[in-house]
Amino acid sequence: MADRVGILGGTFDPVHNGHLSAAREAVHVLKLDRLILVPAGDPWQKKAAVSASGEDRYAMALLATATDESLDASRIEIDREGPSYTIDTLRELSGDPGFAGSQFYFVTGADALSGLPTWREYPELLELATFVGVTRPGHELDAQLPQSGGRIKLVTIPGVDVSSTLIRRRLVDGMSIDDLTTPEVVSYIRKRGLYSQVAL
Ligand code: ATP
Ligand code: MG
Repeated sequence: MADRVGILGGTFDPVHNGHLSAAREAVHVLKLDRLILVPAGDPWQKKAAVSASGEDRYAMALLATATDESLDASRIEIDREGPSYTIDTLRELSGDPGFAGSQFYFVTGADALSGLPTWREYPELLELATFVGVTRPGHELDAQLPQSGGRIKLVTIPGVDVSSTLIRRRLVDGMSIDDLTTPEVVSYIRKRGLYSQVAL
């Protein structure tokens, strides 16, 4: 049987429990064999706001997924020059012999769903993967669904109300983030001195 492979794209600046919860729920509900976190190298939609390097964001995604055998992280976008477009990532993965015959499920939180039509090569993009919108607290799932001829799937999951913005803000304020991401990511941020003085 062909592998069912989930992809969660984003900036992961840093990765947090909301990402991990959405990823695990997607694996369960969509019966995925694995799900890969793909940190954007050059997030064209929010350039000014990104504060950790691609290498640091990838390293944290790797640490956060290391203990869960269904989750993984990929360097594919941080290794590619230029803006990180999902269409290029899906084309590259589809052509990779390691993913031969795989079916791709591209997962996005409810907040990102409404922006999909602004992504490069939409709606052709929808032919390379099944796009799946998942619950995110503060964003109504149905209301965010763009016109797609019924091609985008919606999945309700238990909401975990955490964002990378909240984590960055708390670090600047000297507050604990221990309950918001994994202990390994907390240690990495401390060791590397990330997010201590960033523009929010
Ligand atoms: P920022 O605050 O910097 O925008 P973020 O927390 O929104 O960060 P992103 O890296 O922008 O994280 O998100 C990557 C993907 O994960 C997006 O599809 C986003 O909708 C989804 N996502 C992020 N946080 C959650 C959450 N708490 N629940 C569900 N989906 C989430
Ligand atoms: Mg976001």
